[in-house]
Amino acid sequence: MHVIPGELLAPRGSTRVAAVIGDPVAHSLSPVLHNAGFRAVGLDWVYVAFLVREGQAPSALAAMRTLGLGGLSVTMPHKQAVAEALVGTLSGAAATLGAVNCVRWEDGQLIGENTDGDGFVSSLRGELGVDPAGASVAVIGAGGAGRAVVAALARAGVSRLVIINRDAGRAQRAVTLGGAIAEVGDHLALREVDIIVNATSVGMGSPPSPNPVLPLDQRLLRPGHIVADLVYQPVRTGLLQAAEAVGARTLNGVGMLLYQAVLAFELWTGRSAPVSEMRAAVEARLTT
Ligand code: NAP
Repeated sequence: MHVIPGELLAPRGSTRVAAVIGDPVAHSLSPVLHNAGFRAVGLDWVYVAFLVREGQAPSALAAMRTLGLGGLSVTMPHKQAVAEALVGTLSGAAATLGAVNCVRWEDGQLIGENTDGDGFVSSLRGELGVDPAGASVAVIGAGGAGRAVVAALARAGVSRLVIINRDAGRAQRAVTLGGAIAEVGDHLALREVDIIVNATSVGMGSPPSPNPVLPLDQRLLRPGHIVADLVYQPVRTGLLQAAEAVGARTLNGVGMLLYQAVLAFELWTGRSAPVSEMRAAVEARLTT
């Protein structure tokens, strides 16, 4: 069916459905991103959110097969459970992390992917024009997002990865994802690196304030740094403001949010994602 790009689609018999599963899920920005993308390129697809309780991921995958969903995004608390359910058909990133954020079809089979870390690396390239190959990077935080970023940066060829985390055991587990170039470090290492990534939740949801809590001592920032925050709400976090104040280049968390969706869109549809339209749609829903 021919659909005019930009047309507001009404679902019809031919419409393909993609979805996100999670709990909670009503706050998800994935429907905003993907529906803007489908609309911009004129694809007869629609994207919806399904509240799926913990333990129900295998049923959701069965539903994907039965209903012929075109693509599935996976968010908390199902990323590990979907990886376990799709063992044997996981992409490299998903297998390394033991976590799936995106499921696609290949030759009638469901494939578990993880686009979170590559989404971050793509955002560095796409938003800042920075290729991290050869750079030294410090990642503060070693939760799900931090681990995905560490593994992707190692794949992207960074020269050194310093992982800094409150819980030392989690930092050590993240180091194993980074390989030989990764080490556990402390905040003093921030002075030495080219790129700093905040992968903690510090700064999340905080209203703009004259004294925001930062994940690092801002005296460690310098003009040559590239400072990325994975927190996207607010868009302009206290960390990014402090980095801008010393003349560092900054990347906000919308970049990773956007590009993990861009990669999923392309895996599902085989089409180039309309990055600008997807960015505009999601930015309109966030506070700066
Ligand atoms: P997570 O698995 O719960 O990990 C949270 C991380 O934050 C851990 O490393 C934790 O340290 C650290 N942390 C929390 N409070 C802290 C504090 N007061 N001081 C120091 N460290 C603290 O969460 P996640 O999924 O990795 O998400 C982390 C952040 O990334 C969230 O803000 C989330 O919104 C954001 N995120 C963004 C995107 C995107 O697309 N932009 C995608 C995923 C996540 P411990 O290990 O010591 O507890």
